[in-house]
Amino acid sequence: MTERQPVSFNHSRQAREAENILDHITDRFDDNPRGMDYFYDLFRRVYCQGEALPYEGMRIGTTCIQAPEELIHAVGATPVRLCNGAYHYDQIGGDFMPAKSCSLVKATLGMLSSQDPVPRIGNLDLIVNPTTCDQKKKASAMIEAMGHRVYDLELPPAKESEEARLYWQRSVRQFAVRLSEVTGQRLTRKALKAAMARTARAQAAFRALHQLRKSQPAVFLGKDAFLVTNAFFFDDIERWTAAVEALNEELQQRLLENFQAAQRKAPRILFTGSPPIFPNLKLPLLIEEAGGVVVADETCSANRMLYDLTAVDEWRLDDMVDALADRYLKPCTCPIFTRNDDRRRRLLELADSFAVDGVVYQAFAGCQVYEMEQRSIAEALSAKGIPMLYVETDYSPDDMGQLSTRIEAFLESIKTRKRKRA
Ligand code: SF4
Ligand code: SF4
Repeated sequence: MTERQPVSFNHSRQAREAENILDHITDRFDDNPRGMDYFYDLFRRVYCQGEALPYEGMRIGTTCIQAPEELIHAVGATPVRLCNGAYHYDQIGGDFMPAKSCSLVKATLGMLSSQDPVPRIGNLDLIVNPTTCDQKKKASAMIEAMGHRVYDLELPPAKESEEARLYWQRSVRQFAVRLSEVTGQRLTRKALKAAMARTARAQAAFRALHQLRKSQPAVFLGKDAFLVTNAFFFDDIERWTAAVEALNEELQQRLLENFQAAQRKAPRILFTGSPPIFPNLKLPLLIEEAGGVVVADETCSANRMLYDLTAVDEWRLDDMVDALADRYLKPCTCPIFTRNDDRRRRLLELADSFAVDGVVYQAFAGCQVYEMEQRSIAEALSAKGIPMLYVETDYSPDDMGQLSTRIEAFLESIKTRKRKRA
């Protein structure tokens, strides 16, 4: 049974903010796939009506994709990703952080300090905070001061060396022990294998969706793709997987029928940088409202969260935990690491395989690591003749007009290039 909140919730600022974005996503575009109704309805129920979804076992909040969720599922608990995209909570979080801080971190703090958090996560039994960027590291003590139980999952600052790998494997093993202590459930090989199989099925569904987005013309829009992956933050993993599988079938059919979700010559955009997190989908929406189509992304609210698979050599418990640790470290292209050649490589691969015309790079104001990496990414793309639009922004709606003008100009310049080449 689900628990409904009083009707007045509909009128709260966070509900109206979510509703406004959902209206954009659904009403300003024709021919939304029927398979998206599951996700539209889910977000309306959870974000606009304040419905609390039923959760199994204890609830473990995570503040970044670096926390291996399979371990949480394997001890009978439910992971809930706490990265938040609401401007309403960003403003509340401003009381905790310096003015020029990342909106994502501020909104997460604002949501956790609120009496009225959305999604309705209830009482969290533990919050796992991987020690990634400085702002997330320092947020840990603040979250604890709000009365939450926090576990710092220690991540190495580099990822190439064998020392870093061993350090991280030790961290993940200790995390598994801590989870068992908190939940009172022993981590078993059988439960972990089952949890890994569930995640693998979700990843297979995501990968199929990802492949479908290679089609030319596009059969699916990026605004919907981000909504699908954002639902993974809080939805039941099996329901989510089934909904994505159903959506994929419909998109497959669209492919056979030569359906066009965007104009045939719509500029194909690869999205990278600070992650679009509902309801802050303003940049993908502006791109698609201006006639572009986001065909792929390199962000931790979508592709990076679900694409990389776990490779297990030996199905013994320790080996499985180590294999999980490897899967969460090696392919990670977050700019928190000292070097990040993998990110450039990944972006070039995506640009090539998705026939991308341009890249939009979002950096949240105050996120130094994304700001610092933009130059090397722009150079790598430019060497391949791929233009990039760098956008520094935050969750405030104030810059929408200015962003819209810049995006339109960027898309227009891509169209002109294409015309000249033709
Ligand atoms: S941007 Fe990096 S540190 Fe922040 S949530 Fe995403 S993966 Fe984690
Ligand atoms: S966008 Fe930057 S500052 Fe914000 S969580 Fe990610 S790495 Fe940290």
